[in-house]
This record gives sequence, C-alpha cells and structure tokens, in this order.
Amino acid sequence: MTETATSPQPAVHFEPDDQVERLKAEILRKLAYSLGKDPAVAQPHDWLTAGILAARDHVVDVWQHSTRESYDTGRKRVYYLSLEFLIGRSFADTLNNLGLTGPFAQAMRELGVDLNEIETIEPDAALGNGGLGRLAACYMEAMASTGVPALGYGIRYDHGLFKQRIDGGKQIEVPEDWLSFRNPWEFERRESAYKIGFGGSVTGTDKPGEIFWAPEETVFAVAYDTPIVGWRGREATTLRLWRARAMHPLSLDAFNQGDLIGAVAERNRAEAISKVLYPNDSTPTGQELRLRQEFFFTSASLQDLVRRHYRQFGRLDDLADKVAIQLNDTHPSLAVAELMRLLIDQHKMDWEQAWEVTNATISYTNHTLLPEALETWPVALMERLLPRHMQIIFGINARFLDGVRREQPDADLATLSLIDESHGRRVRMAHLAFVGSHKVNGVSALHSNLMKETVFAPLHRVFPDRITNVTNGITPRRWLFNANPGLTKLLKETCGEAVLDDIGLIRRFGAHASDKAVHERLMAIRRENKLKLAKIIRQDCGVTVDPDALFDVQIKRIHEYKRQLLNILETIALYDAIRSEPYRDWAPRVKIFAGKAASNYATAKSIINLINDVAAVVNNDITTRDRLKVVFLPNYNVSLAEVIIPAADLSEQISTAGMEASGTGNMKFALNGAVTIGTLDGANIEIGERVGADNIVIFGMTAEQVEAAKRNPRPTAEVIAATPHLEGVLDAVAGGAYSPRERGRYQGLVDGLRANDWFMVLNDFESYRQAQRHVDGLWADPATWWRMSVTNTAHCAWFSADRAIREYAERIWNVPVGLPAQTAE
Ligand SMILES: *Cc1c(COP(=O)(O)O)cnc(C)c1O
Repeated sequence: MTETATSPQPAVHFEPDDQVERLKAEILRKLAYSLGKDPAVAQPHDWLTAGILAARDHVVDVWQHSTRESYDTGRKRVYYLSLEFLIGRSFADTLNNLGLTGPFAQAMRELGVDLNEIETIEPDAALGNGGLGRLAACYMEAMASTGVPALGYGIRYDHGLFKQRIDGGKQIEVPEDWLSFRNPWEFERRESAYKIGFGGSVTGTDKPGEIFWAPEETVFAVAYDTPIVGWRGREATTLRLWRARAMHPLSLDAFNQGDLIGAVAERNRAEAISKVLYPNDSTPTGQELRLRQEFFFTSASLQDLVRRHYRQFGRLDDLADKVAIQLNDTHPSLAVAELMRLLIDQHKMDWEQAWEVTNATISYTNHTLLPEALETWPVALMERLLPRHMQIIFGINARFLDGVRREQPDADLATLSLIDESHGRRVRMAHLAFVGSHKVNGVSALHSNLMKETVFAPLHRVFPDRITNVTNGITPRRWLFNANPGLTKLLKETCGEAVLDDIGLIRRFGAHASDKAVHERLMAIRRENKLKLAKIIRQDCGVTVDPDALFDVQIKRIHEYKRQLLNILETIALYDAIRSEPYRDWAPRVKIFAGKAASNYATAKSIINLINDVAAVVNNDITTRDRLKVVFLPNYNVSLAEVIIPAADLSEQISTAGMEASGTGNMKFALNGAVTIGTLDGANIEIGERVGADNIVIFGMTAEQVEAAKRNPRPTAEVIAATPHLEGVLDAVAGGAYSPRERGRYQGLVDGLRANDWFMVLNDFESYRQAQRHVDGLWADPATWWRMSVTNTAHCAWFSADRAIREYAERIWNVPVGLPAQTAE
C-alpha cells in the first residue's frame, strides 16, 4: 500500500492544461451548486469557500482510500486525544500537500481571483493555546505523511482562543468566532452521537456487568470530521471533534408555562461544554466546566473507538493489538477510568483483564513539570460529577498501592498515591495517566530526565522502564516549504528536489556553509521575507522598520518562565547604552514580540503593557531612531507565526532552564535559518548538539544551577548590586520612566522581582546581556552570520515531526509506518 500505484489517482496526473480546466470547472460547480452564487456577484469569501470545497473533494478521495485500506487490513490505528488542536489555516497546506498549488492558482487566476489573497481570509482554527495544541496539529499531518492510520479526537469549540487587541499598550481580549462563515472543511456526523453522563448514583454489586451508573444528566456528543491530507496526497488522517448537544433542546413544560429561559436551560447547560476553549497554558483551572469538557471528549472518544473495534472484531481482549491511545497531557487522563468502565460495566470483563487491556492500549505524554501546572481535581467534585469513575480510580489506587507495599515495603506510599491527601483530597491526574499507561514520554531529552528526577521520581522507581523520551517535532511542510518558499527553492537547487520527500537530504545544504553565492541568495530571501513582515508591522503597529536591521524575535505565549521580561529589561539596558554612546556603530535591531497572556494572568498582562510602553518611548526617540525599534505585534497565532518566523534573524528561546519542556518554536526558527539565543533548556540543548556550539548562542544558568539557587537563594539585592546596569533599569521601570502618566504602573512588577526572583531574571541578566553583545559581533560579520544560518537549516531535519512520529510508532504504539522512511541523518 505504500506505493502511489494503489492510491487514488489525484488530478495531478492529468495534462497540465486539462487539469487547470478541470479545476476551474470544479470551483465553478461549487460556487453554483453548493453556494448558489453566480461568479459575477461572488465575493472573495465565496471564492474561498468554493475553492476549499473543490480542494476538499480531492482530499476525500485520498481519505476514503486511507480509511478503507486501514479497515480492510485491520491495521493498528492511533487515537490521539488532545483537548487542543491549534491548526491555523488549512487551504494553502492542503493544496501544497496535494501538489495542486500551481494548477489551483492558475485556475483561480483564469477565473479572475488571486489565490494568495483569498487564502489570507481563511480564519485560523485556533482550538488551542500554544505549543501543546500546535504539536497535535503537526502530528496529525505527520501521521498522514508517514502513513500511520490515525484519528485525532478533541472538542469542536464554538469559540477558539480569544483575539488579542492592544489598546493603550494593554491586552484586550475579544471573542473569536471562526465558525461565523461555517467551516467548509468539516463533515457533521449526526449519526455518530454518544451519550455522555454526569452525576447521579451507582448501584449494584461488585461483579462485572452488574454495576449500574444512573447519571443525573446526559448530553450528546456529536462528531464533526475533518480529513487531514499528508504530503503528496498519499494518505489522510481524520480529526474528529465533538460538539455538545442537549438531549432535549427545549422543555415544552417550561415553555408552555411561559418560562422561556427555563425552557432552554438544559440546552444552554449542555452546549456550554463545547462553547469555548479555556485560555490557559501551563496553568490548571479549577473550573467544573473544564472537568466536564475533559470527561465529555474523553468519554465520547473512548465510546467511539471501543464501538468501532467491537463492531469489526467482535471482542475487546485484543484491543491493544489494534488500538493505540495517546494522551496529549493529562487533560484526557480520565481515559484510564473510562476505558475500565466500558470494559467492566458494559462488556463484563473482569478487573484484571480490563486493567491489562487498558494499560497496554494507553500511553501518556507529559508536557510540564511546573508544580503549579500539574492537574488535580478535588475528590468531592469527582464523586459528585463522575461517581463511577471515582470508584474506579480508588480501585486502581488500592491495587496499585497494595502491589507496591508487597514489593517495595519501604516505598513512600503518600507520594505514589493517585490521591493527594495533603491539600484536601485531590486526584493527581498525572499519576492516574502514568499508572494507567504502558509508556510515558517527555518531550525533550532534558525534560524526560527531569521527569525521572523530580515529579515522577517515586513512580519511576516503581516502573523503571515506563518513562521514555520523544523529542517534539514540527511539520516541515507547513513551517518550511509553505512558510518560506524562497528558502525552499534554494534548498531544492542545492540539495536536490528529493529534499521535499526526504528532509534528511537538507544536510547537503551544509556543504554551502561558507559559499558566498549561497550567502547572497539567503540574504535576498531573508530580506524579502522581512519586507513582508515590515508591511504588517507598519499596518498593525504603525512603526516603520528597516529590513536591513537585525530582526530579533520572541513570539510565544506570555509567561514568566518564558521570560519576555528578561528580554525587555535587556532592551532597556541596550537603549540606555545607545543613548550614552550615540556615535558608536551599534548594530541596528528591531525587537519583535508577539504573544497572548491568559486573561487572568495579571503579571503576564503587565509584561505586555511594559513591552508596549517601552516601545512607545524607544520608537519616538530620535537618538536611537536608526538603531533600535521595539514592536509588539497583536494577536499572535499560527498564521502570524508563518510570516514572522521566515523573517527572523535571531530566535529568542530564553526560558528559565528546566522550565520549558521542549519548545517547538525554537525548531521552526532554526530550520528557517535563524540563529538561536537561548538557555540550556528543553530542545534548545538538542538543537545545540546538532548545529554545534559555534552556531548557537547559549547563556545563563543550567537547570541544575537553577535548582540549586532555588534551594539556597541568593538575596536579590546582592544579585542586583553585583550586576552592572540592572539597578538603573529596575529603578527606571519602577519609577515610571516608561509610564509617565501612571508612574506606579510597574512598581508591583519590579517589587515582585526584588522580593523573589523565582524565574532567575535577575540572576541571568548579565549573562544574557553579554550574549546579546556577542550576537552584535556575529551580525557585524556577514560571512559568520550566514554560515551560522546555513548550518542551522542544514542540521535541523531531525526536528521533523515525521521523525517524532516514527519514534512514537516504533517505541510506544507498536504500529508500522506505512510510507518509506527518510534517509537516516
Ligand atoms: C509553535 C507555536 C507555539 C509554540 O511556541 P513555543 O515558542 O515553543 O512556546 C505557540 N503558538 C503558535 C501559534 C505556534 O505556531
């Protein structure tokens, strides 16, 4: 099945002219018969929808072939459960993966439509906060590209991540409404609806099949399917998102009594579950609605996959031979209890066998070790909302702790227990996922090692073979080929066309590391990308920037551990330095920031405000006019990242060491040839190993040093006194130099730093500042800079999501990859 010969024959195989004619006809048919529009009055949005519907037909051909093939052969399938899928736009990627970009553009052109223009009006599907959700989206595409049969399960939120406006320097959250023009990619499956229960009581005996949970409340989960096509259109995966619907959309009793609000109360309560994405990233939320969301999509997904398996094979004891369930973080970790419930209560399996099946089927990816981000739910809430699941969790815990007691009598049961008894009684969701899985993976080498040494150390001692590492990856189709066509063209010329199919061949680019002609080409490509970004900066920030300046970029969610504050404080020091020596030949820089802060995260919002306030001062100062600009681009999302990353010279990956599990932004930048300034954290370490120490700028404390400094903190006053420039910078910020109309605006922010430098901003300041001045020197020498750039691109193929998927397939899922492997790097 790996050969294209048995795949459906996409329109690619028609003669070019026929193909364009055919596509024109297809688009016009969609316009007329699906949208009811005449070309003469069609609006850009109509052309977009017609184009998507036409493209979707080509995807469906591939998709049905993939699905039928995996059904017929009974191949093992991967079910990827994720509360977030940060997809962005799909039109351009889909056309490119199908090999239809050129013919489609031509067809549209002949219809009088600019394909590039209509592509930019497709709304981003922003069903995620950041890296975790984007990872899920990259993996769905990479599984389609490597030939791993897969279904992604998540929630079809009516409203994705909020839109961010910047007003007076402050973040304003505006509701997002991606479905307002409907979603032409999806297929609604009214027939695939499952009942999801909440509350109620449990009766019956302890025997399998004789326990009855009578939920107090039941909602429907309705499936919406979107096919995701892989590279060269050979295979497609399915993204199945659940929408909550009420069992009784209208209470006639209440309606007849004139109680119009009461008549739709049940409906509102049910539909709230898939109404909106929680705007949180690496912070847990204690909202009951969040727990309802987690159970809702987990239960629907498990009912769906168990039913599919049972229908095809008529038994469930062999589930793990055909099904691999991957939990993307702990949000779906109720899957452990839900699968047990389905096997025992509905299929009468005994506990031991159900446990064996569950454990062999499920695996879990951990994404954070920050203690404040580890999910726990109060036992009391779980007992009220999910009484049967709470029983099962107690059952799992009792058997687990009994086993430990027998084999390791001196183990500390309190740290192993699924129930944390020290903060009221709470269920530790990471423990539940860990104990219920056969493999648990971290997302970078450092992070997986820290898992063994910190949060999961006690569990690791009990299950020494369970923790493994799969360093994250990104899809090169979206993040290189589509986002950076200029560089892609150069790579095809220097590495051969086959680099598109075998990203490992990109290492051939390394032979050109000191090739002046290649440097010239790269400079021109980067400059064009920067001009495109400069235009957006002018439109969105009202600031004109010089495309020949160094574009220094930090784009990611705003969080204290990611340390945008370190960056902006150093920017202030640089600003001061330029003003005190205005005639030195400072390397011109544009400091570019973008990112959203969770709406309830006051410190992160204050940091956004500070960046904008600093920008207002710096950008209006004529002494620094040609050397320094600071911009904060509003509404960071996937589409903006696709424009910013290919235009970046310097990639800021400056998290406090030990706190960024992996990062994936770092990989996107390096693959596009930006130089990284970063700490020894997450995947930065592995990027450094591949590109070599000369081609990355590393600074700051190591994870070990951070740990030691936390155990034995140095007084911040002492750190500040020992650090040149720092006192002046902090005083200026605290005293209102950047907020003249509200002088106390940042007093709290600075006081917080002085009281407790948890994120080592003060500790790392001088090391970071010196690293930045080192960057100035590198930038001043183009031969060096572009050698670094070439080397970064040439050695980052390993960060392809295809490599990550192959590792999951081999080491965790035990599924064969259907499409040929790349050349080993
Ligand atoms: C890649 C990506 C992220 C993750 O970035 P990090 O720098 O790894 O935190 C977040 N948001 C978007 C839109 C992305 O594309």
